[in-house]
Amino acid sequence: MKSANLGYPRIGGNREWKKALEAYWSGQLEEADLHGKLKEIRLNNLRIQQESGLDVIPVGDFTYYDHILDTATMFGLVPERFIYQGGEVDLTTYYAMARGNRDAAASTMTKWFNTNYHYIVPELGSAQPQLTVNRPLAAYREAKAELGIEGRPVLVGLYTFLKLSKGATDAELSGWIDRLLPLYAQVLQELEREGVQWVQIDEPILSTTLADEELERVQRIYETLREAAPGVKLLLQTYFQSVDHYQAVVALPVAGVGLDFVHDGGRNLQAIAEHGFPADKVLGAGVIDGRGIWRADLESKLAQLETLGRFVAADRILVQPSCSLLHVPVSAAGEQKLAPELQAALAFAGEKLAELTLLVKAAEGGASSVASELAAAKRSREALAASPVRARKDVHERIARLAEQPSARVASVEQRRSIQAERWQLPILPTTTIGSFPQTTEVRSARQKWRKGEWSEEQYEAFIKDQIRTWIGIQTELGLDVFVHGEFERNDMVEFFGEKLAGFAFTSGGWVQSYGSRCVKPPVIYGDVAFEGPMTVAETVYAQSLTKTPVKGMLTGPITILNWSFVRDDKPREEVANQIALALREEVEALEAAGIGMIQVDEPALREGLPLKRSEWDAYLEWAVKAFRLATCTVKDETQIHTHMCYSEFNDIIESISALDADVISIETSRSHGELVSSFEAYTYDKGIGLGVFDIHSPRIPPVEEITGMIDRALRVLDPAQFWINPDCGLKTRRQEETILALRNMVSATEQARERYAVTAR
Ligand code: GLN
Ligand code: ZN
Repeated sequence: MKSANLGYPRIGGNREWKKALEAYWSGQLEEADLHGKLKEIRLNNLRIQQESGLDVIPVGDFTYYDHILDTATMFGLVPERFIYQGGEVDLTTYYAMARGNRDAAASTMTKWFNTNYHYIVPELGSAQPQLTVNRPLAAYREAKAELGIEGRPVLVGLYTFLKLSKGATDAELSGWIDRLLPLYAQVLQELEREGVQWVQIDEPILSTTLADEELERVQRIYETLREAAPGVKLLLQTYFQSVDHYQAVVALPVAGVGLDFVHDGGRNLQAIAEHGFPADKVLGAGVIDGRGIWRADLESKLAQLETLGRFVAADRILVQPSCSLLHVPVSAAGEQKLAPELQAALAFAGEKLAELTLLVKAAEGGASSVASELAAAKRSREALAASPVRARKDVHERIARLAEQPSARVASVEQRRSIQAERWQLPILPTTTIGSFPQTTEVRSARQKWRKGEWSEEQYEAFIKDQIRTWIGIQTELGLDVFVHGEFERNDMVEFFGEKLAGFAFTSGGWVQSYGSRCVKPPVIYGDVAFEGPMTVAETVYAQSLTKTPVKGMLTGPITILNWSFVRDDKPREEVANQIALALREEVEALEAAGIGMIQVDEPALREGLPLKRSEWDAYLEWAVKAFRLATCTVKDETQIHTHMCYSEFNDIIESISALDADVISIETSRSHGELVSSFEAYTYDKGIGLGVFDIHSPRIPPVEEITGMIDRALRVLDPAQFWINPDCGLKTRRQEETILALRNMVSATEQARERYAVTAR
């Protein structure tokens, strides 16, 4: 067996990569210096892998921004709105595609499968593709010349690339395959001539649900490539799920196939056991979790490799992570403030490399050859399992008796509607906002001072109150119907709650790339999640004390907290979601007890948690909806539960959204170009709903007529009696002046609409 890696984090141990990019963008770093700096980081990343003793090191996975953008520019696929005359795409154009410039908007970005990494969506357009530079070849040469590494170049597979692009209908894909295949062939031929042995071709699209005719296309691609460059061996790499068409995939004319044995629900192994694995191929065995941050249970991994060994000759097995290590932080070695049992149980990229080589040693030399390392790994997992943070009896008990917990509101939605109408006496088309108001530099620097201890608790609290008072004043003056306190005390909607709930930890250096230079540091859910005391009551109650207008309490929902964290791997995600939900329920009840009668529970990440395979959507949606309801269903009939979501494609999960049973939902709309509205033609939604009437991502002030247009369009399919008026999302990224002007226009447009629709309201 050999150890192999599939990709390494770009960002550097101290986010040097991010800093270099941003320094270059702001004009503080010359282009030549950027190249120098990034080369240093790139070689260092390779050196770390080399020193780990890894047998197969990927090259060419490094990027100046995003690997899909690299692939597009390698083929000269530059959208027409950018100035481009062919040839190698210069850095200015490259970054303009990613970030936009004065004259042209950036390409959109979207989530890389079910991860939190975002790639730049290639635009196929009318340009004739050409090979502008052979990136994998350059990467291979560099690694060899500088470090003596015989690297394995990585290339995004043609079919995955096309499926992730926009601008070609499904019928046009064949034409695009014809256009790009010769270029892929050329890349491989040049690598072949260079003497490259193996190339890793990433085709994660094969882990999604593909139609049969699509497999024929994939077949054609790989037949052509094999004929074009018979001397280079292709490792066809899949990840993030099992492959549906196992037999077809392993029969493709490639020299090896990489499979994910961590996130496949056990199906890849099952398929091998059932159908075998071709004797002439290499198996990339993704046994180490490339997306989670926990040390592996090496003994069970060894057992898994042993099972694989029954179907595949040992010298044809590569022990590798389940996917590129791009999705985990660089190294856990620098963490200093974590509980020791947590610290010892972490495996970031660096630690995972060690696990890979250790597994190979154990598999080759027998477990006894690395007995002490295996024992240490086992001890660390056991210590975490035995930690008091995982032994909350109260939590376990409640989970064990989950069936006894109420999971539905007492009154039906119709009953609640009339009870709530009676209580709140809102006008038709009530106006509100989504929660946050501008997080100005003043707000952020106040938080910094408080965190550093320069400001006392009292000082910071007084500052937050001051902000709340200002914005209650502004909302009063604007004449909104339902207020919010503004979320000034929150840095991030998940971190804020994580810091106040039991069971969470925060690393100091656990950064992962989200998109471009933006990195996030997800909270770590490592223990039992429990409520420890009110988290939002003081600010909300203070805001409510200043006005008679209802102030909505504002919480982040269980699924969003789950999906935006690194989660313990000893329990199903469903159970962790339920733990969070039960903890949040206590906050909901505390708010209600303190006199807050409207409570919003945000679930912007509900949709993005959908499994890759359609066939698994229902199961996920069922437990996600259940967790939301657990958190929100114990309130009185008269208490109004709101929720909010930001992603625009809801058509396909609208029934689940309704099943959340929130009295009111606000949904981002502006980016869906009316598609969302039309989905309500087909589906009768019976609860309160606000489709965002202006985009909060842009500083532009939406004119009244434009908002009127949005309202009218929505009211063609929705009843004015159920419709709410609100922006697309929270306003934390906007400036104060913009926010006030935009909301003023929103209120004016609403007042006009009320006159027009009052008669028709039920
Ligand atoms: N209440 C949050 C806010 O307004 C919601 C943010 C979100 O949907 N991402 O900021
Ligand atoms: Zn939102």
